[in-house]
Amino acid sequence: MPATHEVTNQVPPLVGHDLAADPALLEGMHREDAGWAESELHELGTLAGSEQAQEWGRLAHAHPPVLRTHDRFGNRIDEVEFDPAWHQLMEVAVSHGIHATPWRADRPGAHVARAAKMYVWGQVEPGHTCPISMTYAAIPALRHNPELAATFEPLLTAPVYDYGLRVPTTKRGLIAGMSMTEKQGGSDVRANTTRAVPADDGTYLITGHKWFTSAPMSDMFLTLAKAPGGLSCFLVPRVLPDGTRNRLFLQRLKDKLGNRSNASAELEYEGAVGWLVGDEGRGVRTIIEMVNLTRLDCVLGSAAGMHHGVLQATHHATHRRAFGTPLIEAPLMTNVLADLAIEAEAATTVAIRLAGATDRAIRGDAAEETFRRLALAVTKYWVCKRGPAHAAEALECLGGNGYIEESGMPRLYREAPLMSIWEGSGNVAALDALRAMARQPESVEAFFAELDHSAGADHRLDDAVARLRKELGDLSAIELRARRIVEIMALVLQGSLLVRYGPAAVADAFCASRLAGDWGVAFGTLPPGTDTSAILERVHVP
Ligand SMILES: Cc1cc2nc3c(=O)[nH]c(=O)nc-3n(C[C@H](O)[C@H](O)[C@H](O)COP(=O)(O)OP(=O)(O)OC[C@H]3O[C@@H](n4cnc5c(N)ncnc54)[C@H](O)[C@@H]3O)c2cc1C
Repeated sequence: MPATHEVTNQVPPLVGHDLAADPALLEGMHREDAGWAESELHELGTLAGSEQAQEWGRLAHAHPPVLRTHDRFGNRIDEVEFDPAWHQLMEVAVSHGIHATPWRADRPGAHVARAAKMYVWGQVEPGHTCPISMTYAAIPALRHNPELAATFEPLLTAPVYDYGLRVPTTKRGLIAGMSMTEKQGGSDVRANTTRAVPADDGTYLITGHKWFTSAPMSDMFLTLAKAPGGLSCFLVPRVLPDGTRNRLFLQRLKDKLGNRSNASAELEYEGAVGWLVGDEGRGVRTIIEMVNLTRLDCVLGSAAGMHHGVLQATHHATHRRAFGTPLIEAPLMTNVLADLAIEAEAATTVAIRLAGATDRAIRGDAAEETFRRLALAVTKYWVCKRGPAHAAEALECLGGNGYIEESGMPRLYREAPLMSIWEGSGNVAALDALRAMARQPESVEAFFAELDHSAGADHRLDDAVARLRKELGDLSAIELRARRIVEIMALVLQGSLLVRYGPAAVADAFCASRLAGDWGVAFGTLPPGTDTSAILERVHVP
């Protein structure tokens, strides 16, 4: 080998660490009643940081799913073939209950513990968390039909990944998907044209197209279709109780920017059998319960992506030298890393606060339900919106190596915009926050009640809250201003949580930059005097 190929100054791979060693996550879990799950979380975090798990993540992306419409004899089969690594990832997620534990083993903090696991395990490979999230989220919607829930809930929540298309009741565990979006409208689902015609036996026959239905090998889908009484929600199994395939035909798999391990299909319903869930005409009301939980997972996914990006960037900067010094000692690099770390900590802190609100709301806490209604829309908009910019900057910290597939950073970067697109794209999330405020004024009170906990603790935060009150008092051009308003709301909520619970250095830099405007447009523009070392102490590079 020529001497020019001696490898120096390259960074060792980041393996063998515990992805749960994340102070913002752990402290949040303890605050939100889920401290009891910490040892399980470290076990999962250690698996997530292992070489084996990282290899599963790589393989699942290197070998994306393949659609098999027909068997070799020409019979339609409509199946999707996955790399074995996909199944390994699913197996871990299901056996650790990320798809369902809180519905099965309920105790205070159960949804927070599950959220923390989602955050940790999702960092290995986010694509497979889509069906995991949908299965978790399907349960509250399914409960609108107690009979169906009695049959399928025990299987949807079983900690067994039992892959393959068979009669659902003969399987040991089930996975659920969600089928709403059509060609003419995804945000505007009321434009759905899929029809559901009542049959004599109490079922409905569903005909129409669905333009995006992810995880098409799921055992069943919650589907929106127009029944005589209006847009309604149905449970549609892939295999019928008599063992025949339901009339669901996979037309194509999407060729996606990211999320490539996961299959997303164009799905044709041709008289597919469905069971009504909830009342006719109440389809959006029913499925929104599912969407609220998947929205929380979008926030968790974005926060997890940011944490992962900071971890990789800081690890790289710790080991890489340029111009004679480790990058981590270069003042401008510390500014970039600290700025990324603040963004990630703010995202994680608010995500876990919302997981706590979800947990308490499900347990009947009306005040937390009201708070969650608005705070989730606000946070879905902002945290998911920050993901792509954050991933791009974290990637750049690795220089050219960050642009190379093997580093894993391109995967992180390509995944990031998706969190903001699905389950309510940016504008739709921002408008949803306005809708919540208009229809449920008590949600505004609950939001400000949360902010009151930090009143007087930091004048920059107090000033920003006062600005927000002024913005909300002006209803002119309100729709046009939705992003501006929701952005301030998200920032004051994050600021309030950081001032109360975060380390002083993080809270101080957050308030200076995000709330008082002592900041640039790009990351790495924190003001002089910022305690970057204290901020970076929160990033546990092994
Ligand atoms: C990888 C992937 C997987 C998916 N999986 C699923 C799935 O499993 N099941 C499913 O049902 N769907 C799925 N979707 C669809 C996804 O939920 C929709 O793409 C999303 O809801 C947006 O709908 P749309 O694509 O029709 O865009 P549109 O609704 O046409 O929106 C286009 C843009 O207009 C904005 N907009 C919309 N209304 C307004 C308004 N009133 N004012 C201002 N701006 C507005 C939106 O924010 C967006 O930026 C998936 C999408 C992707 C990319």
